[in-house]
Amino acid sequence: RPFLNAERIVKRFGEHRAIDDVSLAVGRGEVISVIGPSGAGKSTFLRCLNLLELPDSGALSIGDEEIEFAEGSAPARAQVARLRRQAGMVFQSFNLFPHLTAAQNIELAQKRVLGRSADEARERARSLLDRVGLAAKADAYPSQCSGGQQQRIAIARALAMDPELMLFDEPTSGLDPEVGAEILAVMRELADSGMTMLIATHEMEFARHVSNRVIVMVDGAIVEQGQPEQIMTEP
Ligand code: ADP
Ligand code: ADP
Repeated sequence: RPFLNAERIVKRFGEHRAIDDVSLAVGRGEVISVIGPSGAGKSTFLRCLNLLELPDSGALSIGDEEIEFAEGSAPARAQVARLRRQAGMVFQSFNLFPHLTAAQNIELAQKRVLGRSADEARERARSLLDRVGLAAKADAYPSQCSGGQQQRIAIARALAMDPELMLFDEPTSGLDPEVGAEILAVMRELADSGMTMLIATHEMEFARHVSNRVIVMVDGAIVEQGQPEQIMTEP
């Protein structure tokens, strides 16, 4: 079966179906851009894949973990935790802990969730900061880093958990184009390394040149999908 399989996912907010019966199968190593107007449900869909939002109905499998959702019955916490661990998530607003340094932000969950030793976690943090070009910022606090640097720290933090899948929710939206390009370069490298990725984005160049599939969401549904050149015509 596919590496990630979402089947007939529904997520309601009150009466409104933010995600309306969406199914999607993703193979290992696929890089998928999710595009569509604001309010279409891109963010909610990614959050459902990471179980930051619990779908009202449908089923989700990632790797060997599978969860079925039904109204009125919450899935087992341990199962949610196992599935969530497979997916690293990067948000528009970085979401770093302000009172922790860059390195400490990256070490925290490694120790708490994966049970790594302080030395192991520190070593991994240093190597990931190096990988995103921020070795010099290990001991800086988020407030001492630019937006682009904070986002690279957030990417390193997600990678530190050794996820099988990375979800990006408009990772460059709050940034100047020049700075956004740095983030896109890090993401492109990650894509080239074989990471499975879903990216909600308005970056059409990135969607066209880096992803191997583009999904168009409107009103909580996938209305079109295909290879970038099929979906997106040259301007
Ligand atoms: P997009 O990421 O495509 O901009 P969102 O997933 O953020 O879209 O939102 C989809 C729809 O769900 C919107 O109508 C939005 O207002 C609504 N929505 C998202 N999150 C919530 C929430 N926590 N409570 C109520 N409505 C929400
Ligand atoms: P994004 O586009 O990244 O989803 P938003 O500003 O739409 O950012 O949402 C920020 C937060 O507010 C999210 O946690 C989202 O779930 C929540 N949210 C979005 N729309 C609504 C809404 N209509 N009512 C309540 N919460 C919402």
